[in-house]
Amino acid sequence: ATAQPTILVTGGAGFIGSALIRLLMATTQARVVNVDKLSYAGSLQSLTTIADDPRYRFERLDIADAPALAAVFHRHRPDAVMHLAAETHVDRSIGAPRPFIESNIVGTFVLLETVRTYRDSLDAATRARFRLLHVSTDEVYGSLGATGSFREDRPYRPNSPYAASKAAADHLVRAWHHTYGLPAIISNCSNNYGPYQYPEKLIPVLILNARAGRPLPIYGAGANVRDWLYVDDHVAALWQLLNAGEVGETYNIGGGCERTTLQVAHCVCSLLDRLLPTSPHRPHAQLIRFVADRPGHDLRYAIDASKLATSLGWQPQTSFERGLAQTVAWYLANEDWWQPCLTGDDRLNADEKRDCG
Ligand code: NAD
Repeated sequence: ATAQPTILVTGGAGFIGSALIRLLMATTQARVVNVDKLSYAGSLQSLTTIADDPRYRFERLDIADAPALAAVFHRHRPDAVMHLAAETHVDRSIGAPRPFIESNIVGTFVLLETVRTYRDSLDAATRARFRLLHVSTDEVYGSLGATGSFREDRPYRPNSPYAASKAAADHLVRAWHHTYGLPAIISNCSNNYGPYQYPEKLIPVLILNARAGRPLPIYGAGANVRDWLYVDDHVAALWQLLNAGEVGETYNIGGGCERTTLQVAHCVCSLLDRLLPTSPHRPHAQLIRFVADRPGHDLRYAIDASKLATSLGWQPQTSFERGLAQTVAWYLANEDWWQPCLTGDDRLNADEKRDCG
């Protein structure tokens, strides 16, 4: 690999993309080009700590805009692409699926075609080194019963419009590898949590509602099980995969940490009880309310990440208790970051829509 490769990250202003860019700037010599259209979920405020670094560039565009994307490739000449740009919120995909089709499916298609043409313009050595890492979700596999876990050979059974759009994108990447020899790697990861996550997702909703004394609406009986992974552990896996993963392969990434939604809510509440000893809302668990379940709600996801552990030696480093404590503390200390989301987003202002998990 070159000492100072140029990595093009799509969706770098989002939750996971910004964690990835902060990691790349802190621990590598890479140049980073962040391609993001700044949807409601994207914020340059997540990148203020690295924004002035001369190794970093931001390009605001929609990945489905083929001429604009090709121009960015030819301007920056990346050695690799890490593709994270997507619409990501399951509830929004149920109410309005079209943006999920446009960004996740058409956007990925345009990116693949752009990469295919661009690679042909590279010299033989750079072309041979070039990699595309496509970042996806365990939701493509559908729901599990009480036992078992998803391995990479699990058939795809997506149940929500979000999951179906990600599944479609995964299939496109796979086909572009097999048909055109595009050097792609796919990763399917479980639920992430951590700082800078948009406050429509379960854990930030729980923290911010409880802090304000608002109800914590939990879908169904709160019995849905998710496997939780701290975001910094996920992006460390992505960087390892880009450098040492095998082209044409899929890797599952998970935290080995299954929790029901109700368990997560109780953990957040007891952390807040401890961190806010004078809050009038203590004990925060009294704010928990059960509401009608989400349509098509998958009961359980669990990841078997042994392929990644065996082939690359990756293991999650952050326990759920430590990661959640860091996350709660971060939201309490960073109102400047999340307050503009709450005031600027009509969907977050409609209390009845702020369901959890
Ligand atoms: P996010 O919603 O926080 O951020 C997505 C980013 O992509 C935003 O900055 C947005 O502006 C940008 N974007 C969306 N559509 C775009 C387009 N058409 N062109 C350019 N930019 C666009 O999402 P996230 O949670 O950081 O997820 C990142 C990726 O990881 C997604 O592909 C998601 O499917 C995948 N993933 C997420 C999780 C999770 O728990 N959050 C788990 C597994 C996989």
